Amino acid sequence: MALPVAEWRGRAARLWAALDPALRERLAAASLHDAVRLGCDLLRTEEEAALAQLCHRAATDKKPEAASWYREQGNREFKRGRYQAALRLYSKAASHELPGSPEVSVCFANRSAALLHLGHFEVCLEDIARAESHGYPDRLLPKVLLRKAECLLCLGRLQDAQDILRVLESKIALDGVMTTHLTRLKKLSQLKVKLGEKERCPEPAQEACGGIQGKPEIWEENSRISGASSSLGLGFDAERGRHLVASQDIVPGQSLVKEEAFVSVLCPGESLPLQDGDTAWDTGATNADLYCHRCLRQLLASVPCQGCSYAKYCSQDCADMAWQQYHRTECSLGALLLTLGVFCHVALRTVLLAGFAEVSRLVAWSHCGDKSLQNPEASCKPLSEAADAGAGSRGVPGCDSNGRYQSSYQALFHLLPHAEQHSPEHKFLCTLTVVAICKQLQAAGLEAAVLSQESPQQQPKPKTCENTSDGLSPELKTVAEAMLRHVLQLQCNAQAITVMQELGPGDGAVVDKKPVRLATAFFPVLSLLNHSCCPNTSVSFSGIAATVRASQPISSGQEVFHCYGPHWCRMRVAERQQLLRQYFFECRCPACLEELESGVKSVVSIRNSFCCPKCQAQMQGEEDILCCSNEACATSTSRDHLSGRLQDLQHQIKKALGLLRVGKADQAIKMLLKCQMDAGTFLSPEHLLMGEMEDHLAQVYATLGKWQEAARHLKKSIEIVEMHHGPLSVETGHELFKLAQILFNGFAVSEALSTIQRAEGILSVHFGPQNAQIQELQEMKACLSELPRNILQRT
Ligand SMILES: [Zn+2]
Ligand SMILES: [Zn+2]
Ligand SMILES: [Zn+2]
Ligand SMILES: [Zn+2]
Repeated sequence: MALPVAEWRGRAARLWAALDPALRERLAAASLHDAVRLGCDLLRTEEEAALAQLCHRAATDKKPEAASWYREQGNREFKRGRYQAALRLYSKAASHELPGSPEVSVCFANRSAALLHLGHFEVCLEDIARAESHGYPDRLLPKVLLRKAECLLCLGRLQDAQDILRVLESKIALDGVMTTHLTRLKKLSQLKVKLGEKERCPEPAQEACGGIQGKPEIWEENSRISGASSSLGLGFDAERGRHLVASQDIVPGQSLVKEEAFVSVLCPGESLPLQDGDTAWDTGATNADLYCHRCLRQLLASVPCQGCSYAKYCSQDCADMAWQQYHRTECSLGALLLTLGVFCHVALRTVLLAGFAEVSRLVAWSHCGDKSLQNPEASCKPLSEAADAGAGSRGVPGCDSNGRYQSSYQALFHLLPHAEQHSPEHKFLCTLTVVAICKQLQAAGLEAAVLSQESPQQQPKPKTCENTSDGLSPELKTVAEAMLRHVLQLQCNAQAITVMQELGPGDGAVVDKKPVRLATAFFPVLSLLNHSCCPNTSVSFSGIAATVRASQPISSGQEVFHCYGPHWCRMRVAERQQLLRQYFFECRCPACLEELESGVKSVVSIRNSFCCPKCQAQMQGEEDILCCSNEACATSTSRDHLSGRLQDLQHQIKKALGLLRVGKADQAIKMLLKCQMDAGTFLSPEHLLMGEMEDHLAQVYATLGKWQEAARHLKKSIEIVEMHHGPLSVETGHELFKLAQILFNGFAVSEALSTIQRAEGILSVHFGPQNAQIQELQEMKACLSELPRNILQRT
């Protein structure tokens, strides 16, 4: 997904293989500037035509016929009382309707009904207003007005509700009573009765969410590095490049970096099924349906883009800002960008956000400093002239003239592209792809928008697809060069923005969540952190903002590390080193050194090992045949055989979870218990899968309200998670959070309180006191401490 689709990669590979060897050599040695020039000649009309063909699969234009189909599906779900699914389908419908059409107003009105049922009254009112402003048919208005009154009533805005009811009454009187209005009249009188009741005994004004608020964090910003804490310093040397070092002692949980992404692009991701069965259109919800295209906030009632069916926003403000900053250029290229992958999309958006003036300034600068990229400022250009400002950071790439490092395009531009280390073939693919995008920009008449970002808003998207232009304008060549640099930089510097996404319908008492990759982004300050497989920090995200916190004490002078993905708890050293090869360095962290030098077997491989089917001792061997470690037993089995059993087991577990989803909890339990028995005969007791099964069992028992059983299984899962990830890890924190919910629901008060305490302690180190889970834990605690004493004593 980061890279272009397989077919396009294949085409580029074939083209590369067919090139004259001399030309291949020239390309391999070419600077980014020359690579783009050569790429322009090599991208032929055939390739462009093939690419256009591929784009049909990812169409992002509006299709009114899809809209009406989605709306019908939404209505069906609505009638079945599945309001959440209906809501999403109405949103999909709205994204395919033409803006300003009566049809789109009907989508918003229908969606408002689902929102009312789900209790989102404020958002419901917004959708009603949207429906009204998009020309909702007059004859249907009474229905919507009634809904509005009901909403206002629920919000305690009695006067407003009364006003609406008055308008309604006069409207109905005017139209004369028709049969279709009879039910509405009934509803109206019901509402009036309710209104009267509320007026007689007004409820106390709703308290603003209990008033439980975490303590504000202490945060003092670094004067030399934007978004970094004053407890950090910027270091630079040949071996480590730029890096961050603690300039004073740091305690666990302390925030070290708070940075908003310079640029981020939503990853389309997999789709979650909204409905069962296959249908004509995709009814799944992807990241694009669930999160704001610009700020990544979770969507409830999305605002669709005026031009495409892909981009959806949390608000009109976000839609307008995205349009202004980049989407007016990207909108008509939606399918192309989806086909060519997130990295290229990030590269394009980076250039659009930076503005052409800044892009061409830095590209021009890079031409005179190409030979000394390690320390460009020292050799060239007045980017860091100030003589003694910032003794420590002077001459560090990416710093401004005052020796200050900021989350800016300049800093981003200086992230290492490692142009010489990428394989020539990969560089060729990236070049060809970037050139293809720029040619499309030119062909679609978007060049002006790219070059002058301040040009008039709401340009009608001109679609003059003349395929006459054989070359790129010099300006677009500069854009292509910058984009190529960014695509290459992303391989080492792309930061995934992840969130914990709720699994399942989200109406259970215990919420199960899993981490999901939401977007790919550039964080120039976060990029200063080097990798370690046993990092001393933890990163969390809120929208497009990242926060890095110390996950353990860091003493003054120590380097601050962040894990790029391969964590020592999750992978063995060989796998880690393999993954880290894409970053062009060999990890020398304590975990790697220990495992490599002393030949210590990774804890991962011991814990996730197979055990002897006969005597349950650990199986050994690196080859295809595994032998029992118990010499007296001497059993041996083929690795393939055991791997096959493991696969079968995973398949069975999936089936059991499927049963749970369709409400067959008892059968799910039976199946999971059988899986557990089976697993016990060939997996080590500490195997992660053993823990996962315990976790699933806990979940099933929780849906049945059997809290004690649920807690028993979850505790076993926690033991295994602790063993793998450590007792203070995020993973353990999430498990404890679940246990707290189960104990809370089961009124195991004192145990619940101590579990809440532990979960809070761990999660606040990783996510800070404002985190939603922490707030929830505090609410549980408040609720438990308010219970009458006699209940407390009973437990
Ligand atoms: Zn937004
Ligand atoms: Zn659009
Ligand atoms: Zn390592
Ligand atoms: Zn044995």
